[in-house]
Amino acid sequence: MNALFDLAGKAAVVTGASTGLGMGMTLGLASAGADILLVDHVQCEEAASRVRDMGRRASTLTVDLMKMSSVSAVLEKAILEFGKIDILINNAGIIRRAPALEFTEKDWDDVMLLNSKTAFFLAQAAARDMMSRKYGKIINIASLLAFQGGIIVPSYSASKGAIAQMTKALANEWAPHGIRVNAIAPGYMATNNTRALREDPVRSRAILDRIPAGRWGAPEDLQGAAIFLASAASDYVTGHILAVDGGWLAR
Ligand code: NAD
Repeated sequence: MNALFDLAGKAAVVTGASTGLGMGMTLGLASAGADILLVDHVQCEEAASRVRDMGRRASTLTVDLMKMSSVSAVLEKAILEFGKIDILINNAGIIRRAPALEFTEKDWDDVMLLNSKTAFFLAQAAARDMMSRKYGKIINIASLLAFQGGIIVPSYSASKGAIAQMTKALANEWAPHGIRVNAIAPGYMATNNTRALREDPVRSRAILDRIPAGRWGAPEDLQGAAIFLASAASDYVTGHILAVDGGWLAR
């Protein structure tokens, strides 16, 4: 392991770690040496046991991140298990699909709450701990819909635009304290989040035809970006939104 990318001794919190991109990034950080607190509203035992199989420490917290009380629960559990938070990945997220004219208040509020409000307050809680060591890495999971409007997902696009701007705002404020705040904008990845799209033959074909790499992404495709943004390799990188999209935005 090149020292620049070595995460041995680092304590990471990953939200939405039970499956999909969160599980993929969890395994990536563990492969680089990090211990992980896996947070989700469902059990994360499968991912946690894979972290332990790599010789790292893994702890789990089952909590609904739509409740603001979850923020202090995450912080307390991380401090109890590891004594600190070095890395936070704000990954948990949901999507609701409906045309704007029919969109409900609940589908607006739920998505904005989990995808942006909780992410902000988790970043705030982690940063308060990171300040004492003058070092930390916060990685927010944005989306191509931080740059584009998407189709029939208005609250999702708004929430991802918000997290991208929040990334820059927090990066500005916390850079003097050694805390780097960056985001990853995944392209179209094969997870639960995109099942409806992949099951729609017309949308699925249209998306695939537009991806220069010629394939949907997989959770493993985010591992390199996550390790980079979590490690010393990116110590002079902050406020950046790194697209991992098989070339989608370049097209
Ligand atoms: P996913 O649905 O497979 O995973 C979402 C995770 O969040 C799950 O582990 C789920 O249990 C957890 N979660 C949902 N509600 C929660 C709650 N109330 N409390 C705690 N945990 C909760 O989807 P994914 O594709 O792995 O998505 C991960 C992130 O990546 C999301 O923020 C998503 O918006 C983003 N993203 C995904 C894609 C894609 O193509 N799949 C593209 C861009 C961005």
